[in-house]
Amino acid sequence: VAASGKMAAFRLPPLPTVREIIKLFNLRAQKQLSQNFLLDLRLTDKIVRQAGKLKDAYVCEVGPGPGGITRSILNADVAQLLLVEKDTRFIPGLQMLSEAAPGKVHIVHGDILTYKMERAFPKHLQKKWKDDPPNVHIIGNLPFSVSTPLIIRWLENVSNRDGPFVYGRTQMTLTFQKEVAERLTAATGSKQRSRLSIMSQYLCTVQNCFTIPGRAFVPKPEVDVSVVHFTPLVQPKIQQPFKLVERVVKSVFQFRRKYCYRGVEILFPEAERLEKSEQMLMLADVDPILRPAQLSILHFKNLCDAYRKMCDEDTNLFSYNYREELKQKKRTRKKGYLEQSEQGD
Ligand code: SAM
Repeated sequence: VAASGKMAAFRLPPLPTVREIIKLFNLRAQKQLSQNFLLDLRLTDKIVRQAGKLKDAYVCEVGPGPGGITRSILNADVAQLLLVEKDTRFIPGLQMLSEAAPGKVHIVHGDILTYKMERAFPKHLQKKWKDDPPNVHIIGNLPFSVSTPLIIRWLENVSNRDGPFVYGRTQMTLTFQKEVAERLTAATGSKQRSRLSIMSQYLCTVQNCFTIPGRAFVPKPEVDVSVVHFTPLVQPKIQQPFKLVERVVKSVFQFRRKYCYRGVEILFPEAERLEKSEQMLMLADVDPILRPAQLSILHFKNLCDAYRKMCDEDTNLFSYNYREELKQKKRTRKKGYLEQSEQGD
């Protein structure tokens, strides 16, 4: 308690540096697991500041590793910090941090891809979706091979308001390979506009905060890294089931250099392809000769609404799979050739 009578802000006591922890516990980064560590606490502080005010917050850090970002989160005076780390070698170093911040840290040795965050924090933190975001945050510097599938999963959770979003519009501050961060935040018409841009921006406000040069990591990765902040929107810009949006967006970007009608076509079986794709584009009022990257979120909303209407009218449509039809056609053609050559023998 400070002289004024107010509680002093929490600061970690003097500890071995992250570099010393790495030496002490022999935590060599495993290249095949894309482990790249941040040792500069000014940088980890900067990442944590992007999450907003964390005083008294409940935070989940994914992939804390040797604990650089973990220290910055603790120094931000959080109420609780949940650490989910897959690699057992890091647990003793994290326990040391936990002892330095008594009662604040909970360590889970597990995989974030299967961890159930909906039960991790107290129920009283829950806010209504339309209210301000809850005091629950997710922060992490994960391997790129994990962060992209994970953000797709979490976006689906945003859409369903489950997983980490049972607490309300939980904010996320995550690192991505620079090019992926550019795709996540790309505006209509930009070169980086892709499936990820639509999937993230129809559900969240997405901000590309800053880029960290690869040389700031140990060992140095091949690429630069960007920090991206996500806040789920009160009202998603497309109000259709996630899987339906994903299907439309994926199909449209299948032929990203072609006109958008090429991608729309593959939503329909060959026999009715031309007629139905024309119908969908008309219903959506989308110019068929726009390129996928030129389509706005509103265009995608209209396309999804039109596709939904057509799926409601034809209940088999959503289960149609273009790739399956192609494979089937190939098999039939091959069988035809074989039969012909047998007859010729
Ligand atoms: N956050 C630390 C830092 O910035 O220095 C470590 C970053 S390193 C790129 C990624 C960390 O995520 C490693 O500690 C790795 O073991 C952990 N990790 C990888 N896959 C994971 C998963 N599926 N679930 C939880 N942790 C994971």
